[in-house]
Amino acid sequence: MSESKLTLDIVAPFLNEAASVPGFARLLSELDAEVLRRFGLKTRKILVDDGSTDDSAALFGKALTGDWEIVRLSRNFGKEVAVLAGLDRTRGDMVLIMDADLQHSLDVSLKLIAELVENPDIDVVYARTNREGASWKRSQLAKLFYSLINSSQRFDIPENAGDFRVMRAPVAKAFTLLRDKRRFNKGLYAWAGFRHKALIYTPADRAGGTSKWSRGNLLAFSLEGIASFSVVPLRILTLSGLAAALAGGIYGLKIFFEVFFYGIAVPGFPSLLIAVVVLGGFNLALLGLIGEYVWVALSESKDRPVYIVRDVVSNARDGKEP
Ligand code: UDP
Ligand code: MG
Repeated sequence: MSESKLTLDIVAPFLNEAASVPGFARLLSELDAEVLRRFGLKTRKILVDDGSTDDSAALFGKALTGDWEIVRLSRNFGKEVAVLAGLDRTRGDMVLIMDADLQHSLDVSLKLIAELVENPDIDVVYARTNREGASWKRSQLAKLFYSLINSSQRFDIPENAGDFRVMRAPVAKAFTLLRDKRRFNKGLYAWAGFRHKALIYTPADRAGGTSKWSRGNLLAFSLEGIASFSVVPLRILTLSGLAAALAGGIYGLKIFFEVFFYGIAVPGFPSLLIAVVVLGGFNLALLGLIGEYVWVALSESKDRPVYIVRDVVSNARDGKEP
């Protein structure tokens, strides 16, 4: 009987989270017990050390209980890649992805798992944050981003949905087949498809340390998301370039008629200045945007692995693995 138990893999990436180690290890062992009691699921934890420079990996090694392994990457690859590294090592019937900074609670995790267990028709249950706390400006920016990225696409990338989700084995497998190097997980989950269900929640505050997302990071990440999932900005710019050229042409004709047929002396430099600045601006913006796409194409075309594993430590054995 116990041999036929379904299993749940828990994937959690971490970067310098020493402050959260005791709390997160406790959360995981409670999750172990609860999940076994309520759903008869046996858990295995796969923590990914995304190039931590503090001693969080060693601390986790001491604090974790039950079945666990820590995959140590050779350097910091970013959370998106760390999640893939964890998923690559899953073999359970279900997979839960969560952060190690205690912003993803035991309570919400259990709710996600319950939804998936109780709905055989659903393949993925993801947690969706309500942005009550976010500023108006920020939520408008997010709206703009999602409408841009979702226009003329066969799949929808949901707003405020992150990596905090639980999925069945085929979904996890599908996700690992997508080997994008510059990863935008939200887009990849949506691209992979399957039947999704959202669960609204409010993330807890961080237990310690700081978020690794600065404003600049977020902007760069959004640009990357757009460049790897949407061709719409390119089209908009091409069309506005055409419109600007057309407007310039019409204005030119108007001046031509004024000078030659009505003898009006047109002051030259304001119109010149406008044309130069407007068109120059368009050119620069378009060039930068094309650059974004070229950069994504270039990164993907290099035949490099998405990440490198330094070693894997586990409760069963400590040591190196290829
Ligand atoms: N993280 C990671 N690699 C990174 C940045 C973050 O593995 O390069 C981990 C981090 O330790 C945490 C999770 O990813 O467990 C979420 O990171 P963070 O809290 O900075 O993001 P936020 O919650 O602000 O979205
Ligand atoms: Mg966090």
